[in-house]
Amino acid sequence: MTVLDHLSTFPRVHMGHLPTPLEPMTNLGRELGLDLWIKRDDCTGIGFGGNKVRQLEFYLGKALAQGATQILITGAVQSNFVRAAAAMAARLGMGCHIQLEDRVPDVGAQYRENGNVLLDQLLGATLHSFPEGEDEAGADAALGEIAEALRAKGEIPYIVPLSADQPPTGALGYVDAARELLEQDAEFDVVVVASGSALTHCGLLFGLRALGNGTPITGVCVRRDATAQKARVRRRLDDLAQLMGFANPVAEQDIQLDDRALAPGYGRLNDGVREAIRRTARTEGVFLDPVYAGKVMAALIAQADALKGQRVLFWHTGGQPALFGYADAL
Ligand SMILES: *Cc1c(COP(=O)(O)O)cnc(C)c1O
Repeated sequence: MTVLDHLSTFPRVHMGHLPTPLEPMTNLGRELGLDLWIKRDDCTGIGFGGNKVRQLEFYLGKALAQGATQILITGAVQSNFVRAAAAMAARLGMGCHIQLEDRVPDVGAQYRENGNVLLDQLLGATLHSFPEGEDEAGADAALGEIAEALRAKGEIPYIVPLSADQPPTGALGYVDAARELLEQDAEFDVVVVASGSALTHCGLLFGLRALGNGTPITGVCVRRDATAQKARVRRRLDDLAQLMGFANPVAEQDIQLDDRALAPGYGRLNDGVREAIRRTARTEGVFLDPVYAGKVMAALIAQADALKGQRVLFWHTGGQPALFGYADAL
């Protein structure tokens, strides 16, 4: 059985606008001395799109198979994951409970009320707050308590898990995205993509290698430094192999991470990110978000000289609604 045969055994709801476009970034590429391309996963369609749509197709497939009536999910206040989950739950006629974690210090009213938070409210999700932003297991436990309360009322809750102790179901969406990229029939010297929970990074890496493609992938750190993130990617690749029942095809030296754009930390801007957001908008008419894609582009710009002349794929993972939450910082 191929990796795609294994993938086809998982329940999935097809809701994304796929395949997403693969386009040249001619103007920015010329400025940087690169043959630069963009994979438009900001255009996955439902609920302002982004990479979480591909991941949620598999989580919600599982939820539907279990007869769930309510989707529960936790994330940062400006989380794109919870916003996409609320949109997809609405489309499936399910309720959605969102737990928002205080992960980012020193934020203002725009961050707390605009952007994704506004969209969560418009989508009719019930919002809960969780104070400790770096405690993944604690956040999952608090979500478990909300689930208990719903169960007591006769609802069937499905929790979209965030913690690394849970199976990496969302990565299945990016194993499929690897197939999609190969069908778009373009070769790249390197793919550059955000690495947060690492499910996008792991799915792509696993999928490409399992399909016999050796294109290097650089994961750009958005939450942890390169050492911590490398350990997470390694572990999640093993978890993905176990989930899929397919041997891990990724070699140790394939796990490449770049944390040069991370400072001062998750969800916090630096000048390189501000510049990357402006420059990409002004040269290509493409918006990058401040938490993920903006950091990826900042890291790419910072290493452009080393990549001179190469064919580079920038994987846009979406997240633009957060721009409105970061209006003050921009
Ligand atoms: C969540 C997110 C990422 C990171 O993806 P992971 O699979 O968690 O590593 C990147 N970009 C955007 C816009 C996101 O919302």
